[in-house]
Amino acid sequence: MPTWLVTGGAGFIGGNFVLDAVRQGIKVVNLDVLTYAGNLDTLRSIQGQPSHVFVQGDIGDAALIERLLREHRPDAVINFAAESHVDRSIDGPAAFVQTNVVGTLNLLEKTRDYWKSLDDAARSTFRFLHVSTDEVYGTLGETGKFTEETPYAPNSPYSASKAASDHLVRAFHHTYGLPVLTTNCSNNYGPYQFPEKLIPLIIARALAGEPLPVYGDGRNVRDWLYVGDHCTAISRVLEAGRVGETYNVGGDAERENIVVVKTICRLLDERRPLADGRARESLITFVVDRPGHDRRYAIDASKLKRELGWAPTVTFEQGIARTVEWYLDNQAWVQRVLDGSYRLERIGQAA
Ligand code: NAD
Repeated sequence: MPTWLVTGGAGFIGGNFVLDAVRQGIKVVNLDVLTYAGNLDTLRSIQGQPSHVFVQGDIGDAALIERLLREHRPDAVINFAAESHVDRSIDGPAAFVQTNVVGTLNLLEKTRDYWKSLDDAARSTFRFLHVSTDEVYGTLGETGKFTEETPYAPNSPYSASKAASDHLVRAFHHTYGLPVLTTNCSNNYGPYQFPEKLIPLIIARALAGEPLPVYGDGRNVRDWLYVGDHCTAISRVLEAGRVGETYNVGGDAERENIVVVKTICRLLDERRPLADGRARESLITFVVDRPGHDRRYAIDASKLKRELGWAPTVTFEQGIARTVEWYLDNQAWVQRVLDGSYRLERIGQAA
């Protein structure tokens, strides 16, 4: 069974990915510095399993990365670690440059040195997979989709920092021959997402009967990708992607934000009506738009479908119903995030 070094595996997508990988019998060394977005509660079901080694540490820590690579000798490095929230990047861009750019550069440098030290057979199968976003392509008008050839035009400090990291990954392939793969995906949703992002935020507030803030006119469009489908896409790219290539991953599920919010309201009204009988749509409150808010993202994932046979298996209607159900069934997880107690959890080894 292979060994993977996964970074950011206590976050939303990384956590889902690590749970899947460990259940498949892969040994995962999970490196996460545990910012506010890192949540060890997510990994509780694999706690103590010998095939999951959790290490609290920073992708920017050169000595730590060198040691982990030397000790665990992974067959692949999969980089999810990032500062990931656009609103936070507007308030404080420096942390985004530090982790997403400087941290990724450090990870690349240490991985290149390790990869060079491998024997020919291990060097030829080793992969560095970098998880990125469609936000690097900027914004779309009413029509068209992002392809892998769309020029980069990031509009927020978050997407600019991710774009910089993508360029470094590309450069490490062209300059040093490091066998890299990059995936650029659309907005993910599903279990274990931190309730600052649209879908879990709206679910949490709607359950509590609180106002539901929607930016601008609510007509910004995102292409929603169920996190389980994203995880299978990453595994597929890791397994069979062409070295040096980038693959777009999307859910074929464009929806306006207001439609997403109304869908959640309807599902919750059916499952958990408010005590006073109000329809939750009445809680929707339009708030001043995010500065530089991209209007529309849509992904053309035909390269991934054609070359690697991947396709999303979950429609938006199925995925959102599953997600609402998950949050209803896992109120303890949500509650520990909301009251901050999730940050006290400790497992594994400190770096
Ligand atoms: P997240 O914010 O939920 O998780 C990020 C994780 O990285 C956290 O556990 C955090 O503790 C960890 N981390 C942050 N800085 C670190 C550092 N310096 N060293 C080690 N660990 C660190 O993010 P997510 O939504 O799971 O996103 C994962 C990746 O996917 C990110 O690279 C993000 O840019 C990308 N992405 C996410 C989405 C989405 O919709 N969530 C869409 C496109 C791309």
